[in-house]
Amino acid sequence: MTDGVDFTYTGLPARVVFGTGTLARVHSEAERLGMLRALVLTTPPQAEHGRAVADRLGERAAGVFSGAMMHTPVEVTRAALAVVAEVRADGVVAIGGGSTIGLGKAIAARTGVPQLAIPTTYAGSEMTPILGETEAGHKTTRRTLDVLPETVIYDVDLTLSLPVALSGTSGINAIAHAVEALYAPDANPIISLMAEQGMAALARALPVIAGAPGDRAARRDALYGAWLCGVCLGSVAMALHHKLCHVLGGTFALPHAETHTVVLPHAVAYNAPAAPEAMSRIARALGASGASTASGADGATALYDLAGAVGARRSLAELGMSAAALDRAAELAVQNPYANPRPLERAAIRELLERAFTGAPPR
Ligand code: NAD
Repeated sequence: MTDGVDFTYTGLPARVVFGTGTLARVHSEAERLGMLRALVLTTPPQAEHGRAVADRLGERAAGVFSGAMMHTPVEVTRAALAVVAEVRADGVVAIGGGSTIGLGKAIAARTGVPQLAIPTTYAGSEMTPILGETEAGHKTTRRTLDVLPETVIYDVDLTLSLPVALSGTSGINAIAHAVEALYAPDANPIISLMAEQGMAALARALPVIAGAPGDRAARRDALYGAWLCGVCLGSVAMALHHKLCHVLGGTFALPHAETHTVVLPHAVAYNAPAAPEAMSRIARALGASGASTASGADGATALYDLAGAVGARRSLAELGMSAAALDRAAELAVQNPYANPRPLERAAIRELLERAFTGAPPR
């Protein structure tokens, strides 16, 4: 439904292979991209996954680099680029979460080599033309098609080992992309469809996974939802919620997915009065009580309850934030703000952060 409003939609080019056991297609997909000497990327704990991928690539594998780290530090990218040059890699195969896929993007940005991404979390980076990098504790972000992976293989089997705690918070991180896509200044009905479907799939699957991490049907739903939510993040602008998380992660070094999980209900409650149409979609997707007469509070409360249902921590204090830093965080959040449906009021943002800090329900 377009409500008679004109809109612009830009599709992002990507080939997606989705299913169970799809990792078996890595050799043919690398071949399709013309890779003769692929460098496989992982984090240190997923090195074994990397070696298994290299085995599958056989003669098309040039090596494995297992040094990927959260927030794509430039010094790690330099070390990986030295390996790219040494083994004369002509493509990268990134298997892992947003950290590993971020390293693949950083290499592609500097060398132009094609990327095959194999996500094992729900963060969604594989679907975005966005690269965030850190140098000397400072995070910069750029948006360019040069970093969008050409091919993505989603294999449900690879997510079975994702620990329960990270499954819940990573899934809510994905939901955050969809939430903000609904009230973005460049929101459009195509992306809103994906946002609602993506949120609904994750909201159904995450509580099941919390109790039964090996449930393949729920894992499939969650990964499908994560894909759709990733498209949302890559396609339209992000707002207050992402700004707050960038401040809390970038300046105060709070963990990525867990911070998203704590902040999201509060950001939704803040924006509720200014984005009623988005709020009813959020409430409907999450199956919030009173969805038919959805008020913003329904969606925000449903997100807070979902975090509880997956056993996630719901306060910034538990994530290591200090009370003394809240004033500074509020100040940074209103500097260079992202476009947001409700204007950013410093005092109200400070209050939002206070509630997130203590773990109080959203208001
Ligand atoms: P992550 O990639 O840092 O992974 C967290 C940990 O889980 C790592 O130790 C990893 O090895 C492990 N892990 C991942 N998948 C696993 C699995 N299936 N089984 C067992 N262990 C597994 O975490 P993340 O939340 O996916 O990514 C966060 C990073 O991605 C941040 O740096 C964030 O800024 C970035 N990100 C970027 C974008 C973008 O569009 N540019 C989007 C989302 C996230």
